[in-house]
Amino acid sequence: MTRDAVIEADVGVVGAGPGGMAAALRIASSGLSVVVLDEGARPGGQIFRQLPEGFAHASPPTEPPSHGAGHELLHALTGSKVSVESHATVWDARAPRGDDLGCLWFEQGVASRALRCKAIVLAPGAMDRCVPFPGWTLPGVITAGAAQVMVRGYGIKPGSRAVVAGSGPLLLPTVTALVSAGVKVVAALESAPRRAALRALPGVLRSGARLREAFFYARQLWRSGVSLQFSRAVFAVEGDGRVQRAVIGQLDREGNPIASTAKTVDADVVCTGFGLVPSIEIGQRLGCRATWNEARGGWHIEALDFGATNVDRVFAVGEIAGIGGSEVAIAEGRAAGELVCAQLQQRGALTHVRDRSRAVRAAADAMLRAFSVPRGVYSLVKDGTIVCRCEDVNAKAVRDASALHGDSLRAIKMGCRAGMGPCQGRICAPSVQAIASRGSTRAWDEPVVQIPLKPVRTSTILDAPKV
Ligand SMILES: Cc1cc2nc3c(=O)[nH]c(=O)nc-3n(C[C@H](O)[C@H](O)[C@H](O)COP(=O)(O)OP(=O)(O)OC[C@H]3O[C@@H](n4cnc5c(N)ncnc54)[C@H](O)[C@@H]3O)c2cc1C
Repeated sequence: MTRDAVIEADVGVVGAGPGGMAAALRIASSGLSVVVLDEGARPGGQIFRQLPEGFAHASPPTEPPSHGAGHELLHALTGSKVSVESHATVWDARAPRGDDLGCLWFEQGVASRALRCKAIVLAPGAMDRCVPFPGWTLPGVITAGAAQVMVRGYGIKPGSRAVVAGSGPLLLPTVTALVSAGVKVVAALESAPRRAALRALPGVLRSGARLREAFFYARQLWRSGVSLQFSRAVFAVEGDGRVQRAVIGQLDREGNPIASTAKTVDADVVCTGFGLVPSIEIGQRLGCRATWNEARGGWHIEALDFGATNVDRVFAVGEIAGIGGSEVAIAEGRAAGELVCAQLQQRGALTHVRDRSRAVRAAADAMLRAFSVPRGVYSLVKDGTIVCRCEDVNAKAVRDASALHGDSLRAIKMGCRAGMGPCQGRICAPSVQAIASRGSTRAWDEPVVQIPLKPVRTSTILDAPKV
């Protein structure tokens, strides 16, 4: 079947996760046409990820209560007029202006296509934050998110003996996903101190959904016999060509490793997750203002009420507007959907959806403030530890470049090529700057955006519809 190179809709949505689905359903229910573009095989996003067609779980992972909302969204999507374009990677974008339609250029298979629309809702989510340590580039070291993608998204067991380490609420779903897949979790290490969990409590108590989720994970951990150990981290990973051992130990109050507590455990997979970093490139490309908030994952697109950005008819919901979880993404998606309809249909917007999104966002902020990355963990990085994987740049080169040229990302990039490879610093920028600034807590530089926003074929760019 040949598909039109250029399609049109009232509204284009980027991302079929909870935020994008909630926005699209609200918009379609008002009779407006809406197309959702998602690079995944099926809608669901990170948390409500569905197995690809033809895959099945040998033993399906136990689902937390939050997944009920995901089933509802996916079911509603099937019965709706929302058009979902899967395997569609958006690599460039232009905002609507006056009577000119906005445009989202995307690659789908070998086709180079474009979606023209009157308004754009951005819900591209986030990516794992990686913190380097000696041995982190060995095969078998994966992010906490990748472990979940393997288990829940493809029914694949990443190993048989796992160490899970990092910081923040995502460690719990990672442990339970691995356990349900039959992986033995030999250690689950939270680098924040136990008091962080207590500091997160007010945010958990302010949301019924989050409280149910916390009980679910507490019960799952208790059943599996795995206990979360606070102020602990992986100091190093060792092995002959792949992970065979992890050196783990205790951290002091600043997160610095206490060498005398180090001990070695056998493991064939190490899953690390230090929270998420919002994927803001597409918002920046459209001219949306980004702002810094460490608890929300650093740089995120500044979203005002109803997800509106500083760019007319461009909205940002969910993780792009700051890490907050699926409940926030759904509430913000609905609120943005409401304002899009109100603007395009020239009526007032219902305020209760905005009030709900404000309340769940405030609760998420209160919880996530407790789990910032302890700066001391960067002292695990040795001179020879690779920091930028794309360009094979080690920590010494980063430190030398920053001593010569200053600690801005741009200066370091020019000095040693860190952040110059295919990921364009999306993976290494937070660690490059933390290492260069020797653990200072100041905001790192706002990342510079380039097209293509995601890696695509050269022919996709050359054949891009001229609209
Ligand atoms: C790897 C990972 C695992 C997670 N696991 C859990 C968990 O177990 N429990 C939990 O509570 N929370 C989890 N989270 C957090 C949770 O996924 C989010 O809070 C929630 O899904 C946010 O919803 P969203 O709609 O903002 O984005 P997402 O759900 O991330 O959806 C974004 C969608 O946008 C698509 N996309 C991104 N860029 C483009 C582009 N350029 N072109 C086309 N499509 C694009 C992606 O394919 C994705 O489907 C996880 C996050 C990550 C990154």
